[in-house]
Amino acid sequence: MPATFINGTKIAEQIKREVASEVETLRQRGIQPGLAVVLVGDDAASSAYVNMKAKACEELGIYSRKLTIPSSVSTEELCSDVRKLNEDDAIDGILVQLPLPKHVDKHTILEAVHPKKDVDGFHSVNVGSLVLGHETLVACTPSGVMEILHRSGVTVEGANAVVLGRSDDVGKPQALLLMHANATVTICHSKTRNLPNIVRQADIVVAAIGKTAMVTRDWVKPGAVVIDVGTNRVSDRAEVQRLFGDDPGRWKDFEKRGYVWAGDVDERGVKDVASMMTPVPGGVGPMTIAILMKNTLKAARMRRAI
Ligand code: NAP
Repeated sequence: MPATFINGTKIAEQIKREVASEVETLRQRGIQPGLAVVLVGDDAASSAYVNMKAKACEELGIYSRKLTIPSSVSTEELCSDVRKLNEDDAIDGILVQLPLPKHVDKHTILEAVHPKKDVDGFHSVNVGSLVLGHETLVACTPSGVMEILHRSGVTVEGANAVVLGRSDDVGKPQALLLMHANATVTICHSKTRNLPNIVRQADIVVAAIGKTAMVTRDWVKPGAVVIDVGTNRVSDRAEVQRLFGDDPGRWKDFEKRGYVWAGDVDERGVKDVASMMTPVPGGVGPMTIAILMKNTLKAARMRRAI
């Protein structure tokens, strides 16, 4: 039987409705959660992401503020902007849109965000709390994956989970979240030997490597749950044909935009062996903003201890 595709858009909408309802409850107490998004430079993709975040805030009743800063900014100047937001009582969450220009020290900037306002969960204090299993602000994408698993009825406790990728933003926090949910976790990376053999042991696979369709059907244990975090732009016509055949939806996108999105998982092959899987797009992607909203609400509550 082919895999059930998990509808991340639907789950994200459900989470947003829950957040909106809680925001309304806070509003009745005279509190409005606020998110500041810092955009450095004029990269079109980053600007589009920032606008999507502002739009989500508006929909949910969260106050949002966008700071657009020229790419010539120095690390010290950007730190000073972030510190002002740390002191700003209208702001509960601060998100610095990545990537930053090369001359700006990303680590220094992320550490300048007050841990209690770190809705991206990247500050070392929050990462440390995650390691210890303390309640804290956790990175949005891996948190979104956990929501997907939970709301799709996947049993994580006792499962063998393989995380492909060990980045600070996705792979590492993902592995920790799965471990805290009592999975037995293996983390793989570019130096891992016998990768397919390791992935074949998994009841749950989370692929976050940024390599188009690398996880093929022969890597996947029959019945496994496969979560595809990968977001890869495919603009080569022959590659689109190889990955998606004559799928009319993909070709419509391709003709419209000149590219399609593909995950790290070969969807066409893996759907015949997995029990459940997330599509790309429409799987993990929509969850990231929904969790950002949830984290902003959480930050607002934590800061006021309510
Ligand atoms: P990243 O920082 O580039 O990390 C990639 C990880 O994959 C690294 O740990 C790397 O290993 C590993 N890797 C690379 N090639 C590999 C290979 N051939 N075999 C095994 N492991 C390999 O990427 P990221 O930020 O974690 O993102 C991963 C993917 O998720 C990207 O496609 C990104 O666009 C996507 N993403 C999506 C969302 C979303 O909202 N849907 C959010 C974040 C990221 P080493 O450590 O050894 O180099």
